[in-house]
Amino acid sequence: MAKKQFKAESKRLLEMMINSIYTQREIFLRELISNASDAIDKIYYRALTDDQLVFNKDDYYIKITPDKANRTLTISDTGIGMTKEELENNLGVIAKSGSLAFKNENELKDGHNIIGQFGVGFYSAFMVADVVTVISRALGSDEAYKWESSGADGYTIVPSEKATPGTDIILRIKPNTEDDQYDEYLEEYRLRSIIKKYSDFIRYPIKMDVKRSKPKEGSENEFEEVVEEETINSMVPIWRKNKNELKQEDYDNFYFEKRYGFDKPLKHLHISADGAVVYNAILFIPEQMPFDYYTKEYEKGLELYSNGVLIMNKCPDLLPDYFSFVKGMVDSEDLSLNISREMLQHDRQLKLIAKNIKNKIKGLLQSMLKDEREKYEQFYKAFGRTLKYGVYSDYGTNKEELQDLLLFYSSKEKKQVTLDEYVSRMPEEQKYIYYATGESIERIDKLPQTELVADKGYEILYFTDDIDEFAIKMLLKYKDKEFKSVSSGDLGIEADEADKAAEAEESENKELFEFMKDVLKDKVKQVKASKRLKSHPVCLSSEGELSIEMEKVLQAMPNGQDVKADKVLEINVNHDVFQSLKAAFAQDKEKLALYTNLLYNQALLIEGLPIQDPVEFTNDICKMMV
Ligand code: ADP
Ligand code: MG
Repeated sequence: MAKKQFKAESKRLLEMMINSIYTQREIFLRELISNASDAIDKIYYRALTDDQLVFNKDDYYIKITPDKANRTLTISDTGIGMTKEELENNLGVIAKSGSLAFKNENELKDGHNIIGQFGVGFYSAFMVADVVTVISRALGSDEAYKWESSGADGYTIVPSEKATPGTDIILRIKPNTEDDQYDEYLEEYRLRSIIKKYSDFIRYPIKMDVKRSKPKEGSENEFEEVVEEETINSMVPIWRKNKNELKQEDYDNFYFEKRYGFDKPLKHLHISADGAVVYNAILFIPEQMPFDYYTKEYEKGLELYSNGVLIMNKCPDLLPDYFSFVKGMVDSEDLSLNISREMLQHDRQLKLIAKNIKNKIKGLLQSMLKDEREKYEQFYKAFGRTLKYGVYSDYGTNKEELQDLLLFYSSKEKKQVTLDEYVSRMPEEQKYIYYATGESIERIDKLPQTELVADKGYEILYFTDDIDEFAIKMLLKYKDKEFKSVSSGDLGIEADEADKAAEAEESENKELFEFMKDVLKDKVKQVKASKRLKSHPVCLSSEGELSIEMEKVLQAMPNGQDVKADKVLEINVNHDVFQSLKAAFAQDKEKLALYTNLLYNQALLIEGLPIQDPVEFTNDICKMMV
């Protein structure tokens, strides 16, 4: 049986295309300029094999002309033009790409510069125009033709006049409606910004006549309006330039022009990769944290270009969350774009680029840490938190990747140190990496819990960020050394004489400790003789996974669950206070209850926890005075 051909209702197809492919109307200009650039490129490629043809770059340009009076916008190019047949084939058949055919026919090895491939971009003109007129004269021909269409109804082609080869595309801009303002596409400033946004790196000049006011000749304070032709695009993408030709200033300017931030970049990375995946990228680490960085309004991502044409403003898939502070752009030739060229097919190429970029950023941070410590610390001050979140999130999937980029304040060095630095300094007998948590360095410095560890001469890492302890719990170990909070039950420090004395006191005064526990009820799990306190009378420690500091963080969360750490009240048996407790236990149980409550509340205060009943606490103090 003879196979039947599918038929498409081309009117409907065109309507669907025009109205559903693109998310943004302004894209039409990008598409028409891309076509114009392709048309000029085709002359360039033809000249490579045709001795008769000389390609003199200066002769080729694209011109944009808005005409408010006639409501038209014209996009002209000095490119290869179209014959009558080509007008018929390329503009009369949807999804037919003359440019793709050109690439294939000419087997262009470096033909990657040609942008067209899908054969639909042209029709985006109908998003803003109700009539589109194309006047074209093919290179090497004397005849010109006029193609005209008002969209779904079809098109006409008639002979026309044109002095030079090339193409003029004349859009009759739609009238404004209540919801849609089409006028903007006749405004010079608007056109300029669309060109800058999408087509800044088209290799041929995109010109426009711009009005300027200039001092009148021979006069200082009289001005006149003059019209001058100006090239709007910058043409040469800085990322295609040789790194040696570029100065720091050029990168700074690029960062500024692209509005990646209002600050200056702290560091940049210029990548020209041509291995398994070919791309160019310029990446920046900002100097300062953007004001919305930790809000949900902040969107991570890099600008994505395909052949110098902007495809996506912020492509999130190019950056892992833990490097979300990185700004910049990526340009690649071999991306699989979807038909609107606004999005990517989720393809292998993109994943490869993303992985490559991730490694480069990590490499940059590592070398900063090694060679530019101060700069790294500055970076870490702004974005260190993001790295720590990275260790914690996704169940620690990325912890190994990130652990060597972390810094914590050291009790000994009095500055930020890496885990590697800490571990390399550990004395042989030290079992754990010790840390203490608190609101600030000053506060942790005064924590009684740090006394024993510090006394032993061990270094303590200070955790002042909410996320720190959570991240460390995820890390568990660094170079086989476990992390240990100075307030945890077992500190892994060999029992010495003082410890044995404490144990002896505890068994001797078992009933005293039990009495105190009964006074405090379930506020604490246990009251015991402390092995870590040296000069302070009392402190709180915790048993189990959840520390007191973590309890604070979790309770402060907006949907805070009521989770509690298992607290232990530790009493320093070498402190004079202990003698008073013993005496009270023997003579005056009521007094002991009072002391117990006081000590417990003191421990809360030291820990930075709220006292449940401040009035009772002050009354208790008064009772001591009278
Ligand atoms: P694509 O650019 O993906 O091929 P378009 O719909 O944008 O698809 O254009 C269809 C075809 O029309 C192009 O491939 C090209 O052959 C032809 N064309 C469009 N604009 C021009 C132009 N300004 N000069 C020459 N040919 C053009
Ligand atoms: Mg196109």
